[in-house]
Amino acid sequence: MTAEIICVGTELLLGDIVNTNAQFLSRELAELGISVLHQHVIGDNPGRLRDLVKEAKSRSDLLVFSGGLGPTEDDLTKETVAEAFGDTLHFDEAEWQKIVDFFARTGRGGRTPTANNRKQAMVPTKGHKLPNAHGTAPGAWFEDDGCIAVLMPGVPREMKAMWAEDIRPVLLQRQNCTIHSKTLRVLGGESSIASKVSPLFASENPTAAIYCKTGESEIRVTARAATEAEAETACDARIAEFRKILGPNAYDVDVPGLEYTVVHLLQQKGLHAATAESCTGGLVAEKITNVPGSSEVFGYGFVTYAEAAKAKLLGVDPTLIEQYNVVSGPVAVAMAYGALRASGADLAVGITGIAGPGGALPGKPVGTVYLAGADARSGKAWLMRLELGGYAERSIIRTRAALYALDLLRRMALDIPPENAHPVPSKDVKPETLDI
Ligand code: ATP
Ligand code: MG
Repeated sequence: MTAEIICVGTELLLGDIVNTNAQFLSRELAELGISVLHQHVIGDNPGRLRDLVKEAKSRSDLLVFSGGLGPTEDDLTKETVAEAFGDTLHFDEAEWQKIVDFFARTGRGGRTPTANNRKQAMVPTKGHKLPNAHGTAPGAWFEDDGCIAVLMPGVPREMKAMWAEDIRPVLLQRQNCTIHSKTLRVLGGESSIASKVSPLFASENPTAAIYCKTGESEIRVTARAATEAEAETACDARIAEFRKILGPNAYDVDVPGLEYTVVHLLQQKGLHAATAESCTGGLVAEKITNVPGSSEVFGYGFVTYAEAAKAKLLGVDPTLIEQYNVVSGPVAVAMAYGALRASGADLAVGITGIAGPGGALPGKPVGTVYLAGADARSGKAWLMRLELGGYAERSIIRTRAALYALDLLRRMALDIPPENAHPVPSKDVKPETLDI
């Protein structure tokens, strides 16, 4: 099946609003295995709309409209499409009653609809109306000569509800299949991931699409099959292929974020974690405690922003700070061991860095972050020097540092050595060896 998306609205052409409906609909149609040939944006102009509908109808199986269903004179989409599909519109008493009721409920003391609003109660005669659960304008379904046209309101909330309830299920049924989606989360940027797994993105079933987030990416896999179980199996198999290529950076499936994976893992393994944060100011603790049930695995989050706080709460030796600077490997390691000692946890991370925009040091530009992880079970630790600067701003540097810290906790819990980390054999190691 081939489709075209037609978004109607002069405000879209003027750049007053962003065409998020087209993005949503393209993604949905791709998941259904329907090829989108064109996306159009057109003003509220019946002549141009008529020409476009004629052309699109002649070459595609499905035309998906958003916008132009309003009550004003310039909203002529429904009339124009009805004509092109050899249909007529008639007044629907039930829809009109809904509009009257809606007006009576809104505004001070209730309002009455205007004559213009009657336009919204006009519905297809051969085709059918589509109920609008969140607004006054019903949508419309037309069919002619092997081509379907669906008309939805422009307001995204109304459009999405109509799509999900009355259009998507019918299209699925017509395609004789069900679909299932799963999302794999992977640490790292879109380009580095895509280059490793690009052949898997070429497949048409299951489809895979990558979405970039700060410091990580999501790969959404969608499979179509005759039954739900088959679609799910196909999704799982494709996700397993991705995981095989991407290794431990592919950290979980269908979770909202890495902190969920970390908390679940700590719960499973019966471990407790603690955090000692400087430049991230409690961000790691905030993320962990955002996960329901985190109190089982997390009791202590130290925000030691000042040097004195690092000494007082974590027992960091002030001479270490004097000698190596507060942003240094020896201090990060001392913070992690200090957090273990003060909390009695099994695992701890220590983070110190320069979030910017000021504060760069010789040889330590903005974005330099030292991250250490200490493991009470083995007495060992890991130290990483991260360069998170470049063009990144303060909030991005902090978010990425927090993500690395969560990943370090995850890898320690799983006994997977962290990438590019220096092993610290014990807490008595000479500090100069940590000055990286
Ligand atoms: P209304 O009854 O509100 O006039 P309508 O179906 O005629 O509904 P439009 O007038 O085209 O829809 O759009 C109503 C509002 O919905 C717009 O002001 C805009 O905020 C939003 N909207 C419309 N089209 C889009 C789009 N393609 N992407 C995102 N938002 C949109
Ligand atoms: Mg309108």
